Order: sequence, then structure tokens, then C-alpha cells
Amino acid sequence: MDFDAYARTAVALVNTPLTEPDDLTRLFSPGSWEHDHLTERDFGVFRRTQRRLRAVFSLGAAGQDADAVAELNRLLDAFPVRPRISGHDTTDWHMHVTSRGASVSAEYLAGAVWGLSVWVCEFGSARFGVCADPRCARAYLDTSSNNSRRFCSERCATRAHVAAHRARKRASALAG
Ligand SMILES: [Zn+2]
Ligand SMILES: [Zn+2]
Repeated sequence: MDFDAYARTAVALVNTPLTEPDDLTRLFSPGSWEHDHLTERDFGVFRRTQRRLRAVFSLGAAGQDADAVAELNRLLDAFPVRPRISGHDTTDWHMHVTSRGASVSAEYLAGAVWGLSVWVCEFGSARFGVCADPRCARAYLDTSSNNSRRFCSERCATRAHVAAHRARKRASALAG
């Protein structure tokens, strides 16, 4: 299993604003198996679990490793992995991570939680990040060589850098 790709589905979910069921189309493109099988119930599960996954990122970013792991273990209990080969039209065999007939949320979350759990074991929860720009606060996985990333993207890093630069200039203008 490509745990890295699964971990990224957790990031995608945390960063997707969910206020109404239609918002899930940002995660599942029309025509996909997921899109065609989504229910109202899935939306509720995604919303609740999104909060828990965000907490895992916050705990990891704050250095609360054991707490992040404890929450992941609870999530592994709630969304167990049970691999199965599936083919929606028998010409496209591929893996599903939950049992036959599982809901879209069960399938998606089993993969996402599994991916994040393997990430913790491989790299440590300090690699979980929350963007340092409070207006953004998107979650990310820090793949930098020295675990030094503070922002979700170049865009947020540049914006913060420019703002800090302007603040310094203002301060020195006042001092001068
Ligand atoms: Zn499938
Ligand atoms: Zn950001």
C-alpha cells in the first residue's frame, strides 16, 4: 500500500472546508465511485473525523507526540483497515481498504488514518504541521530535510515574509 498517498488524503480532508454535503465534491470528482456512493451520513462522519484529524496535526505540531499517537490509535479502532481487491467493472482490479459494502467515509478514513499512522512510525509526529499563518492554518506533512517547514505553501511563506519585512520597516521608521 502506498501509505504516503493515503497520508495525503488525510491532509486533503483536513484542508477541505465542510459546511454542506456538496462541499465533498472538492474531494471526490463527479463520476468517481466515491462521488456516486456518498450519503448524508458520510458527510456527518467526515465532518466529525475531520476535527479529530486536525487535532492530530495540531498535537504533532505542538510536540505532543504521545497524545497524537493515542488519538491515532483511537481512530484506527474506529476505521479499521481490511484490504480487499475490488473491480467496479472487472477490468480495473484495484485495492479497497475496507470490507465489501463499506461506506465511502469508512473507506476513505481507513486509508487516511492508516497513512498517517505509518507516517508517525516512519518520521515522527513532529512532521505534522499546521500553517504558521493563523488566517490559513492548513495542515501539511513536513517533508523538508531538516523538519523546518512552518507554512503550508510557498505562498503563505512569502506573504508572512513580506508582512514581517514591512513591520520591521515601520518599526525602524518610527525609531528613526
Ligand atoms: Zn474502487
Ligand atoms: Zn498556509
